[in-house]
Amino acid sequence: MSVKVLVTGGAGYIGSHVVKLLGERGYEVLTYDNLSTGHEWAVLYGKLVVGDLADRNMLRKVFEEFRPEAVMHFAAHIVVPESIRKPLKYYSNNVANTINLLEVMEEFGVDKFIFSSSAAVYGVPEEIPVSESAPLRPINPYGETKATVERILKDLSRSGKGFRYVSLRYFNVAGADPEGKIGFAYPNPTHLIIRAVKAAKGDLRRLEIYGTDYPTPDGTCIRDYIHVTDLAEAHIMALEFLLDGGQSEVFNCGYGHGHSVKEVIDTVKRVTGRDFSVVETPRREGDPPILVADSCKIKDRLGWEPKYDDLGFIVRTAWEWELKGLVV
Ligand code: UDP
Repeated sequence: MSVKVLVTGGAGYIGSHVVKLLGERGYEVLTYDNLSTGHEWAVLYGKLVVGDLADRNMLRKVFEEFRPEAVMHFAAHIVVPESIRKPLKYYSNNVANTINLLEVMEEFGVDKFIFSSSAAVYGVPEEIPVSESAPLRPINPYGETKATVERILKDLSRSGKGFRYVSLRYFNVAGADPEGKIGFAYPNPTHLIIRAVKAAKGDLRRLEIYGTDYPTPDGTCIRDYIHVTDLAEAHIMALEFLLDGGQSEVFNCGYGHGHSVKEVIDTVKRVTGRDFSVVETPRREGDPPILVADSCKIKDRLGWEPKYDDLGFIVRTAWEWELKGLVV
């Protein structure tokens, strides 16, 4: 019998790529998603239950019927500037609703959990590349919610009830399914690669570079861009690690090297073959100059080997997805 995995947020960008991989690998998946930003068409395998994590009775019903062996938790708000303006929205969904989920898991004796964390938990790290042992010092409410849940998970794993988790700290996730079936589909995207391909397509009049006076070789910020399918694979490996009896762990998910904003823009122009207008503007609030993962731990401990560590490939898949012209 196949292993049953409940995926919250499985209709969203990263969740849907993981659901696809779980389905392809023979897992039985159930997606629980309120479709606030996700899409029914993005769920390529298993059943979709449209529900909110705040609705405990609905959650209980799903656990009662589906009886998952493990839970992967993607459902969360993710827009940093919005988290600064609306912190309660973020604490309520990202923290309080996660507690709901964990409580229902406990009620039903489900003790394996994979959590979508973020490099935002590090804030402005002192050392680059940043390793998992660096202190958690988030600089915005979004990062605080992720760090708070990580602390809750740590306490829960020490509570003697057998709860085990893997927390994956994502760096800059980008690109789309290489088969072109799913991809990023949220309105008003803020992320660099998506905005750049939209500018190349002509959907954005121009692309802004937020700051050219950073202490980096070309003055623009450096980020560790990781292809969403490599990230999805890391989730499968984390799941298998827990199913094989692995203890709770935290892993960075990045390639271990970065690209500047200008390099990304040059790559988008080269891959798409289109020029677009770029303007330099002042810094955006809360951007660390360099954020690059030390990814040794996940490679050593889970045997994760990225397949798409190539900015050109990441951009190409994002571009091909964008050309499908999905209206969201
Ligand atoms: N960025 C930019 N123009 C944009 C979007 C982003 O210059 O239209 C910069 C941003 O300031 C940061 C980097 O690109 O230095 C990556 O930003 P993104 O929002 O993609 O991810 P973040 O690192 O903030 O999670």
